[in-house]
Amino acid sequence: MMNDELAKEIEQQALAHGFSACGIISLDDMDGYAKMYEERMENVPESRPFYSRPEMQQITQVKKRFPWAKSLIICTTDYTRYRFPKELRNKFAKAFLLSRDGDTTTELYRKKHDFTRWLTDKGLRWEGGDDTSHLQIGGLRYAAMKAGLGIIRRNNFFYNENGCYVELDGYAIDAECRLYHHAVIRPCSDRCNLCQKACPSHALQGPNKFSPLRCVSFCNTFGLGWNPMKVTDEEMGTWTIGCDACQDACPYNRRKNWDEGEPFPNLEELVPYFDLERLQTAPAEEIIEKVLPKTQEHIFPNQVNRLRESAKRAMKNSLGETLDVRR
Ligand code: SF4
Ligand code: SF4
Repeated sequence: MMNDELAKEIEQQALAHGFSACGIISLDDMDGYAKMYEERMENVPESRPFYSRPEMQQITQVKKRFPWAKSLIICTTDYTRYRFPKELRNKFAKAFLLSRDGDTTTELYRKKHDFTRWLTDKGLRWEGGDDTSHLQIGGLRYAAMKAGLGIIRRNNFFYNENGCYVELDGYAIDAECRLYHHAVIRPCSDRCNLCQKACPSHALQGPNKFSPLRCVSFCNTFGLGWNPMKVTDEEMGTWTIGCDACQDACPYNRRKNWDEGEPFPNLEELVPYFDLERLQTAPAEEIIEKVLPKTQEHIFPNQVNRLRESAKRAMKNSLGETLDVRR
């Protein structure tokens, strides 16, 4: 039996624990995700080797992975409320550095985990959040769209009314409850291709046509040292961890001035450790302690030297940009 009271209570608790919004959908709502996933590969055949790996395919198998589950909670954390230091822009992706998961000492992190403690205390069986690896419960952007919290735009990102700088967390639970929203958000104009034009490595090849192995963000995190599509140093530009180019170019994000907003907990103190010159020479212990936690297991301690190479390349390219500007 559907439990509307429980749905409301979960939403209240999610908001009280620092989430910006919360929806609850059925597992059946995710049925269309496998089709969308397959279409991605059909649209960009070179993406098939990446998306068809068994560990990636799991992302479409929410019913198989959580056979006991009856509902999916999907929560958003909007990070447009924060400012983002100038020194980090165009080098480090905001999704990493403004994530709740990147600093276990913060209140933001503690509250997120207190939310799952509340689910447990409520007697609910649950799985999900960042405890369930990068895959989480699977297809979080699709789940958030199905919950009516926003839309997926042509650059493949999920957008709420403030843009796409939104962190998503999903939890499978063993209770029947639903909570749908009806966000009213203008879709992309048919004429807009600003995200595609901004993509430095042609990973974004058309509306919702994405080649993950060409993505700068893949090359400088997961793929460190593996570059099958031969993305060039020039295309990598100044990006050192992640890439925001297709998001920053989007008019639905441009409303945000990143000089404004509250400081993200502990981030401004960390800025010196992200200096490109320092990253090349700092002891590995320093990078492991100060920098890698912000990558949320996208870069591991045995890849510190690869990160140094990224910093070196980014610095070389940023000097080139400075010279270009002077000309
Ligand atoms: S993250 Fe960067 S490289 Fe990847 S699709 Fe977007 S703009 Fe292109
Ligand atoms: S840049 Fe244009 S096409 Fe791309 S996601 Fe934004 S509105 Fe849509």
